[in-house]
Amino acid sequence: MSVTDQAFVTLATDDVYCQGALVLGQSLRNHTTSRKLAVLITPEVSSGMRSVLRSVFDEVTEVDALDSADSVRLALLQRPELGVTFTKLHCWTLTHYSKCVFMDADTLVLCNVDELFDREEFSAAPDSGWPDCFNSGVFVFRPSLKTYNLLLQFAAEHGSFDGGDQGLLNSFFSNWATADIGKHLPFIYNLSSSAVYSYVPAFNHFGRDTKVVHFLGATKPWNYKYNLQTKRVMQDGTTSGSFHQLSFLALWWNIYSASILPLLEKFQKMEESESEEWKHTFSGVEITLKKVDPSVANSLQMPVLPEQASEAHPTACSSEELTFKAWLYSSNLYTKLNNVDLAFISLSLTDLPSNMLLILHFRKPLS
Ligand code: UDP
Ligand code: MN
Repeated sequence: MSVTDQAFVTLATDDVYCQGALVLGQSLRNHTTSRKLAVLITPEVSSGMRSVLRSVFDEVTEVDALDSADSVRLALLQRPELGVTFTKLHCWTLTHYSKCVFMDADTLVLCNVDELFDREEFSAAPDSGWPDCFNSGVFVFRPSLKTYNLLLQFAAEHGSFDGGDQGLLNSFFSNWATADIGKHLPFIYNLSSSAVYSYVPAFNHFGRDTKVVHFLGATKPWNYKYNLQTKRVMQDGTTSGSFHQLSFLALWWNIYSASILPLLEKFQKMEESESEEWKHTFSGVEITLKKVDPSVANSLQMPVLPEQASEAHPTACSSEELTFKAWLYSSNLYTKLNNVDLAFISLSLTDLPSNMLLILHFRKPLS
């Protein structure tokens, strides 16, 4: 039974973190979650990577980097250190879901964890460094624009005591430690792989029940080297991993090499074969029309187009007699197609500071 109004949500602001998001998404699929999988990305994520994300996640949502849409955001602009934090807060805007579980891109599930949806906002597990704080790598929340705006306002006024989302969220949900034990997720739902050392007997006793591993800290699984033949994570002088930490890393790499690498390679080949393209420039906006392999066509989606338009561009004809108009909307560029006589259209947007590049992939109908 699938539950369509609840989702696991993660975040990846670049192609590197996407690797983590993909392994997390695949681990949730492997353990047959009944919930939707959503990933938030920012404009830096490449179009090839977006295609790969779409083949693992149900929903790939681009969110803005900081912009000046309102005064709260403007105030936040003065705090560049909160960039990624701000992006994580966007998960509260996914209001087409009634309840979600956020998971960092550096987490991995070891079994089905759908029971997390029985919990209420705001549920999280203790942080191993300071257990009166929760760790913000795994948490249960209810999307709400009201909460989102309160969080932004709070961030603008108070900042974050640790410069990241964890400090901010702990100050905002400040009664987590004392108010309701039901909102304390067991540590096995967010086991930081480093905590294994700090209390070895506890790990030996409870560790086998671990449900979610969190590779928190500076060195992420994708920073290690992995031997595809021996299926072992290679240790260099700097990684003094324990047996358990290495086995968690090996688990991550098994998923990455078995399920994710083949996807990345497949889409890379397709990108290379997509050499035919036409470039046009209208009012300083460069538009690239690009042919896409029909086998990818169905996996690419047309984004929902906003009706309001702040600037219209002249109708243009490509060499393929394709007419379209481009609209400038907010800081993003969207297009609306007039003669939608095409089998499909997909867009990938690159938000550039002063100018924008829109890449239009298209395939002509098989007539
Ligand atoms: N993140 C990201 N890009 C970044 C940094 C962080 O997308 O450059 C996202 C990603 O989902 C990541 C989460 O924010 O898992 C929190 O950051 P991280 O896991 O690096 O922090 P840690 O858990 O090590 O404190
Ligand atoms: Mn993390």
